[in-house]
Amino acid sequence: MGQATPEIKQRVQELRQLLQKASYAYYSLDAPLMEDAVYDQLYRELQELEVNYPELVTPESPTQRVGEKAASKFSSVDHNIPLYSLENAFNLEEFSQWQQRWQRHLSPNSAVDAEYLCELKIDGSALALTYEHGILVRGVTRGDGVTGEDITQNVRTIRSIPLQLNFPEGPALVEVRGEAFLPLDIFEQINQERSQAGEQLFANPRNAAAGTLRQLDPRIVAKRRLDFFAYTLHLGNQDLDHTNPKSQREALEFLQKLGFRVNPHRRFCSSWQDVRDYYQDWDRERRNLPYLTDGIVVKLNSFVLQEQLGFTQKFPRWAIALKYPAQEAPTRVEEITINVGRTGALTPMAQLQPVQLSGTTVQRATLHNSDFIAQLDVRVGDTVIVRKAGEIIPEVVRVLPELRPDGVESFQMPSHCPVCGQPVVRPHSEAVTRCINASCPAIVKGSLTHWASRDALDINGLGEKIVEQLVDKSLVVSVGDLYDLTVEQLASLERMGNKSAEKLTSAISQSKNQPWSRVLYGLGIRHVGSVNAKTLAEQFPTVEQLIGASLANIESVYSIGPEIAHSVYSWFQVPSNQKLIERLGNAELQLATKIEAKATLKNQPVRGKSFVITGTLPTLKREQAKDLIQKAGGKVTGSISTKTNYLVVGEAAGSKLEKAQALGITQLSEAQLLTLLESD
Ligand code: NAD
Repeated sequence: MGQATPEIKQRVQELRQLLQKASYAYYSLDAPLMEDAVYDQLYRELQELEVNYPELVTPESPTQRVGEKAASKFSSVDHNIPLYSLENAFNLEEFSQWQQRWQRHLSPNSAVDAEYLCELKIDGSALALTYEHGILVRGVTRGDGVTGEDITQNVRTIRSIPLQLNFPEGPALVEVRGEAFLPLDIFEQINQERSQAGEQLFANPRNAAAGTLRQLDPRIVAKRRLDFFAYTLHLGNQDLDHTNPKSQREALEFLQKLGFRVNPHRRFCSSWQDVRDYYQDWDRERRNLPYLTDGIVVKLNSFVLQEQLGFTQKFPRWAIALKYPAQEAPTRVEEITINVGRTGALTPMAQLQPVQLSGTTVQRATLHNSDFIAQLDVRVGDTVIVRKAGEIIPEVVRVLPELRPDGVESFQMPSHCPVCGQPVVRPHSEAVTRCINASCPAIVKGSLTHWASRDALDINGLGEKIVEQLVDKSLVVSVGDLYDLTVEQLASLERMGNKSAEKLTSAISQSKNQPWSRVLYGLGIRHVGSVNAKTLAEQFPTVEQLIGASLANIESVYSIGPEIAHSVYSWFQVPSNQKLIERLGNAELQLATKIEAKATLKNQPVRGKSFVITGTLPTLKREQAKDLIQKAGGKVTGSISTKTNYLVVGEAAGSKLEKAQALGITQLSEAQLLTLLESD
C-alpha cells in the first residue's frame, strides 16, 4: 500500500469520531446510536484502513481499546486478570480462517486436533465475580477491560448468582465471569412501564441489562429480575487436586457444581462441520429462546492449548465469536441510476459497494422516488445503512451524515427520460416521475415482458433478451405486433435458429387461447394485478362491457377501489388503447369469457392459514387484501402470535414487523401475497 491520501485520512478521522461517539452512547449512556451490526461493519472498515496504513494508527483509536472507561457513578476496581473482549467472525469462512490462524500459531508444520466447546453468545453485559472462601465479595462490570465499576450491591440482587458457593473446602479465591442479561419478557415489561411513566425506552435487552446493573438503587435492580449465565472460571493461584478442570467443558460442569447457572445449550464439537451445524441450528432455534443471543462463541476446549495460545492485546487467541448474519449494514452509494419501468415510472436505484446482508450480497437498493431521496438526503458518495429483513428487497434506511465526503451534491431527478430522451413529468398528486412517451423503448420492452409473463399470456421463450432485440430492431412497437411476427423475422434475431423461431411463433399463437382475465392483466393497466383482473373479467365478461362501463359501474365492483376504477376507466377511454383492443380482437385473442370456470379461487390455496397485515400496501386497501385472503381460504387477524403463518408488509410497517422478525414469521409483499393467493 502507498501513502494514505487526504481522502483516506479524512475517512479514518471521521470513522474514529463516529465510533467513539457511538461507543460512549452504548457503554456509558446505555443508549446506542446505531445497530450493533452497523457499528461492527464501520469498526471493521477502520480496522482494515489501519492495517493498510499503519502510520495512521493512534493509541486512542477505538480499535485499540476494549469497551469504555468506567463512568464515575461507582468506585473503580482494577481487574486481577484483564477482561478481554472476543474477536469476531461474521461468517463461516472467517471462522475457518481463524481456525487456520491458531493452528499455524501453535504448530506451523503439523495439524493439531481441533476440539471446541461451543456456547451461545448471550447478548447481555459481562460481570466478574470474586469469591473469597466461598463468599461473594465483589461484583465488577467489564468497563474498559482493565478497570470496571464495583456494583457488588446490585449483583447481590441477582438470584442466579450464589452469595455462597456449594463447596465448603473449595479454593480460597475463585473468580467467575459470565453474562448478566434480561429475559425478553421482562425487557418488554420494563419498557412498557417506562413508556407509561413517560421515560425513555431501552433500545434492546443488552442496554437494559447494562443500564440496570449500573442503577444506583439496588431495590430497582432487584425488581428488574436480571439473570446470569456463568462461562469462565479462574481458581486464583492455588491448584486443587485432580478435580481441577482441564478444559472448558469441565470448567462449565464445575461452575454448575459450585451453584451457578450455566447455559444448557453448549455443545462439544470436534470438527469444523460440527461447529457449522451448531451455528446453523442456533441461527434458526434462537428465535425460540426466552433471551437474545447474537452469535455463538467457539472456544478451544483444552486449557493446555488455551495457555499455549494466550492473548493478543484485546482478545484470547483461543476463542472467537461467530456472529449471526446482519440484517442492517453500512455501505457506500457509488452511483444513483434510473430505471424506467413499463408504466414509465422513473425509479432511482442506489448502486452500492457490495455488502453482506442476511447471508446474501447486496449491491443495489431501490430509492423509490425523488421524495424518498429528498427525505433521506441520500447523495452519491454517502455512507448509508441498508436493511434486508426477511424476504423484503433491500432498502436504504438512513444516511450517516458524519461520514459524508466534502463537496458531494444533492441528487436531482433528470428532466428527460434516460432511455428515450423525451421530457418527463411529475403529476402534482404523485411522488413518481414518469416518461409519458408511449413509444419509449423502456416502456414498450416492459409492456412486452409483462404481456409474456407467466401470470399474463405466459408466452414461453419470449424473455427479456428477445424482447430487447425485437424492440431495438423495430420489429415490434406494441403487443399487437407480436401476432404478425413471421418465423423468418424471428430467425433473424441473434442466437435464434429456425427451430427456436418456429417454437416461439407457436407459443405466441397458443397465447390466443389464454382467457380474457389474463389478457386484461397482460394489458398492464396501472393498479390492475392478476387478482383484480380476474374480478373485473368476472364482472365484465366481455371487453365491450368494460369499454362501455361508467366509472361508477366499475367502482361498484366489490374489492375494486376508486383508484383502480379510475385507472381502468381512463385506460379504456384512450383512443390508441381502443385501437390496440381492436387489433387484439382481429388477432383472435380472447376478449370475452368463454364459459370459463368461475374465476374465484376454488382450490383455496391458503386454506387454514393465518395472516396479519401491517403498513400501507401499494395497491390494495386493507379490506381488499383481507377479502382476497378470506376468499382463498385464509383468515386475517389483528395481531402477531406464534400461530401467525404470514405477515403481509406494506410501507411504514410498525412494531408488528419487528415481532414477526423475532418469531421468524414469513413476510410477504403485496405482490408475493397475490402470487401466493393464485397458486393452486
Ligand atoms: P462482544 O459483545 O462482541 O463480545 C464479547 C463479549 O461477549 C464478552 O465480553 C462477553 O460479555 C460476551 N459473551 C456472551 N456470551 C459469552 C460466552 N458464552 N462466552 C464468552 N463471552 C460471552 O464484544 P464487546 O467488546 O463486549 O463489545 C463489542 C460489541 O459491542 C461490538 O460487536 C458492537 O456490536 C457492540 N457495540 C455497539 C455499539 C453501538 O453503537 N451499537 C457501540 C459499541 C459497541
